[in-house]
Amino acid sequence: MIVGDGMADYPLESLGGKTPLEAARVPHMDRLAREGAGGRLKTVPGGFAPASDVANLSLLGYDPAKCYSGRGPLEAASLGVDLEPDEVAFRCNLVTVSEGKLSDYSAGHISTREAGLLINQLEERLGGQGIRFHPGMSYRHLLVVKEQLLEEGRGKLKTMPPHDITGEPFEPHLPRGKGGAFLTDLIRKSQIFLSGQEINSIRLDLGENPANSVWLWGEGKRPSLDGFRERFGLSGALISAVDLLKGLARVIGLEVIEVPGATGFFDTDYRAKGEHALKALSGHDFVYVHVEAPDEAGHTGNPVEKVKAIEAIDDKIVGPALDARIRFPNLRVIVLPDHATPISLKTHVDDPVPFAVWGAGIAPDAMESYTEKEAEKGSFGTKKGHELLPLLFSLENKPPGEK
Ligand SMILES: [Zn+2]
Repeated sequence: MIVGDGMADYPLESLGGKTPLEAARVPHMDRLAREGAGGRLKTVPGGFAPASDVANLSLLGYDPAKCYSGRGPLEAASLGVDLEPDEVAFRCNLVTVSEGKLSDYSAGHISTREAGLLINQLEERLGGQGIRFHPGMSYRHLLVVKEQLLEEGRGKLKTMPPHDITGEPFEPHLPRGKGGAFLTDLIRKSQIFLSGQEINSIRLDLGENPANSVWLWGEGKRPSLDGFRERFGLSGALISAVDLLKGLARVIGLEVIEVPGATGFFDTDYRAKGEHALKALSGHDFVYVHVEAPDEAGHTGNPVEKVKAIEAIDDKIVGPALDARIRFPNLRVIVLPDHATPISLKTHVDDPVPFAVWGAGIAPDAMESYTEKEAEKGSFGTKKGHELLPLLFSLENKPPGEK
């Protein structure tokens, strides 16, 4: 399963009225769609925000409506941080605020090294007594808080993903409800502390966005999910640069394969990811390769980078996967995004995503290329995200639709 995060999109004027998938040169994805079959997937159940964790949980065959307990706990699992039953985990972004606005959800994609120093200093200054900061990668970190600290306030706690409010005043989006005042206080203290840090003066001197605030969101308690093997009777592995996805993998018992050069950004080593995925097929029934770059291009509103990322996935991951069928005659390859991240909106939407599957026992349908529009012709029709994997695992050598 090859997942181009946020790959699906809407037509763009700057691409001559085409979507990035339509504009990209993707001979391997097109072959996969032409010789295989496809359809559309609703990866985000009604009532859920179209977040990556929800969508990826769904792609892995789990119904988020039944299994989802928040993003923070998955990130905790990925960092090897155990949660006590009375603890709540939050995603803790390092962000840039300027003139009262949340101007960058990633603090200029700050390096893991600089970010680690800042998070450790925050832990020293603000941690203890039921509060723990844990460093992760780049701008993505973790805060764990004892539940009893979050008791003040009324109504359900509401937090906001920072990538959804980029460029907006941050005050109206500070945490609200039960625990909101406590978290807001922590954010304000982080702003005072972080703006005085030397790393940030250096970043400003270099024209880089300073990491001058934390942003807390994605709260949740320890999840309980069936293992992938118990659920499907198959072994699996996952490749991703994103902590969240690795956390999800650890929680359901997929082997996490670390790939040198996988960055979660435009500069990721696509080829290395593809190679490691194929290598993993020798030891596993199922391999999930996740590439974050198209989503980042969507969030930054950059159609050129999005097309480039899609073409790199096609050339360096999908192409070699199709070639690998010589070695693995029973191979099936699925290409899809977890959700759409339209350039024009710079954020995720919950529209159904196009998918195509190719390989053993998959009969061709009317799809002629891999695009949002062509997927509407797919013989699978529109399915719920978590229905796809069980369906494909149960599908023997017969075409979809045939009894
Ligand atoms: Zn995203």
